[in-house]
Amino acid sequence: MTSPALPSAAAPALAARPQPKPWIAAIHAYVPGKSTGTDGAALIKLSANENPLGASPLAQAARAHAGDQARYPDPDSVALRNALGHLHGIATDRVVMGTGSDELLNLAAQAFAGPGDEVVYVRFGFSVYDIAARRCGATPIVAPDRDYGTDVDALLAAVTPATRVVFLANPNNPTGSYIGREEVARLHAGLRPDVLLVIDQAYAEYVAAEADDGAFALAQRSHNVLVTRTFSKIYGLAGERVGWATGDPALVDMLNRIRGPFNLSLSAQATALAAVADQAFVEQSRAHNARERARFVAALATLGNHGLRPLPSEANFVLIEFMGALTAQAAYLALMDHGYITRWLPGQGLPQCLRITIGTPEQMDHIAVVLAQLAGAAA
Ligand code: PMP
Repeated sequence: MTSPALPSAAAPALAARPQPKPWIAAIHAYVPGKSTGTDGAALIKLSANENPLGASPLAQAARAHAGDQARYPDPDSVALRNALGHLHGIATDRVVMGTGSDELLNLAAQAFAGPGDEVVYVRFGFSVYDIAARRCGATPIVAPDRDYGTDVDALLAAVTPATRVVFLANPNNPTGSYIGREEVARLHAGLRPDVLLVIDQAYAEYVAAEADDGAFALAQRSHNVLVTRTFSKIYGLAGERVGWATGDPALVDMLNRIRGPFNLSLSAQATALAAVADQAFVEQSRAHNARERARFVAALATLGNHGLRPLPSEANFVLIEFMGALTAQAAYLALMDHGYITRWLPGQGLPQCLRITIGTPEQMDHIAVVLAQLAGAAA
């Protein structure tokens, strides 16, 4: 009797390996903003839309006495949820915390979509939506943009009977584009009540109060709207990984079932709680961003004859389109030589664009001067 041939140890049969689900294997990993140049040297980081003012001094101080590291943190982040509810006038059972809003975007797709279902978002939408859709086996459906911005009609036209979730970033990353209250309401009104509308407001605190898109109000009165927010941007706590979402308690309940049981660390809860209490810092950050963004955009406006166009932005960054002799890639590399790492986006279908986070006044002045020199030299 001969024994069956064993697969050679050197070349194990492919089928003998764990096989990833095809929808997982199709995912391209998220590409984070870089902090170093090609030679590994640290650069001024304007590639990840962080707060150039850092975090509130109260939040910094809270980190030192966050609690006993040997103990698990509060699994439900109760104090933080209460504080957010109080600040925004939202009942605590309508608030769920996430390890960054990234976790919540993924959980929202996972809870409401699966194989055979469709998840819709606009072209040049936030790159996590593609990952969130695929990782639960759903099919991402990309609606056309309107001059890089959100086109509500196109989004609605992309909805089919298989649609389960629609993602809208407002303001959007990487474009900075924003749609107002009427357009958001029109989008919601055009969706079936069984389609979940996720309004990702990672940059909402940068928007002037009078331009509010009404997402919180919509989440309060609808069963199918979830709004996500983050402490990574205006609160300056990207390193602590704190996001939150609000919506109907039934939606919140589903996300609670599948989130990490202790998803916010001790220091995440303590620093975010202190940060919520310092709304003066939030206001200071908003004012800084509005002022510096306006100055930067005005400086770039003079370069229109060189084909540079800053796209309208309501966020803490500006996406610049390069249609002249100076390319976005050349500007990206030259800015690196001047000590700045920005975000060139060929992987997101935007090789003609550079996204620059709003930094300090000195940094923005310097970058505007460098871009003017480069554009002039390339002409
Ligand atoms: N949504 C948008 C539109 C973003 O730009 C980001 C950060 N890049 C996030 C969500 C996720 O941020 P975080 O996980 O840090 O909350």
